[in-house]
Amino acid sequence: MKKNGIKLLSILFVVTIAFWGVGCQEQKEAPKPEEKAAAPEKMVKWKLAMTWSSTLTPLASPPLKLAKVLEEMSGGKFTIRVEGSEKHKAALGILDMVKGGQYEIGHSASYYWKGKDMAMVFFTSVPFGMTAAEQYAWFYYGGGMELMDEAYDKYGVISLPGGNTGVQMGGWFKKEINSLADLEGLKMRIPGLAGEVFAKLGVNVTNIPPGELYTSLDRGTIDALEWVGPAMDIKMGFHKIAPYYYTGWHEPASEMQFLINQEAYDALTPEFKAMLDTAIKAVTAEMYTENFAGSVDAWAQMKTEFPDIKVKTFPKPVLKAMKAAADETYDGYAAQDPMFKKVLDSQRSYMEKARVWTVISEYNYVKTSIEMDE
Ligand code: CA
Repeated sequence: MKKNGIKLLSILFVVTIAFWGVGCQEQKEAPKPEEKAAAPEKMVKWKLAMTWSSTLTPLASPPLKLAKVLEEMSGGKFTIRVEGSEKHKAALGILDMVKGGQYEIGHSASYYWKGKDMAMVFFTSVPFGMTAAEQYAWFYYGGGMELMDEAYDKYGVISLPGGNTGVQMGGWFKKEINSLADLEGLKMRIPGLAGEVFAKLGVNVTNIPPGELYTSLDRGTIDALEWVGPAMDIKMGFHKIAPYYYTGWHEPASEMQFLINQEAYDALTPEFKAMLDTAIKAVTAEMYTENFAGSVDAWAQMKTEFPDIKVKTFPKPVLKAMKAAADETYDGYAAQDPMFKKVLDSQRSYMEKARVWTVISEYNYVKTSIEMDE
């Protein structure tokens, strides 16, 4: 009994000394207020995973430029190591990896999460949706950011616009589409909601990995495909094997997204947050310009090398059927999913207002400029 008592006292003594030691150390290390203010900013090293391979510009451009700009702005104190899909091998796992914290930040497109959450499609682009100018106005001034925050909140992830492709082309077709009957049984690679719309019109929709697209079109495994627009299509070589290039309807303004782990963002100093937010906005705007300029040059080159390429627009009855099928698809999802309905209603009402101004301003300017030269 006495022996146990001594043992207990010894333990208490050791524990007390230990705590006293910790206390002393804390006191010694706590900086005085003036020292704290002058303390150098802590280094921040982040990793970014993107859906694209490191060479797939302009989609890969915003993250690559972000890393460069941020390092310069912070004097090397805030760095981001960018990993392409060739490294992490999880092109469509970006949301999960950022949510789980394996990567503090990611770059992808929201419509890839439609299997988890159908409402996510609206933050990229939807068939017959808004143009890039209209959609940016919706994001930043029309309530879009608030809806995107709400949609991503449950994943513990912040989502910010990350670059836009502008109007995507309707795709490369080996034969002309003159009527709805020509869509019947047509084998086409067209992903996402547009694929659902085309399937309703009798198209045999397939999804083929990018690396196999050229061969599939060349060998006739598919009759048509869509990719992006001249800037990116030219690298794939589709213009060498399909004569008809249809104008867009299905991805009028595909927006990429930066995804940021909420805890990692919250841990940043206000200065680093401001640098990150500003740099993201700058590289986001830059992608639209890079892709536009790339398409200007690529289209000129394609048309020179392959003068027989014909730019076509789907006939009006076909477009009307696509629009009806798209609206039916949206209303179907809206009936089952309140968040989908909320974002759909917001985009529909904003677009109604915004389109009036687009027609008065840009559309009329371009139309009258062309008519003047006729
Ligand atoms: Ca596309």
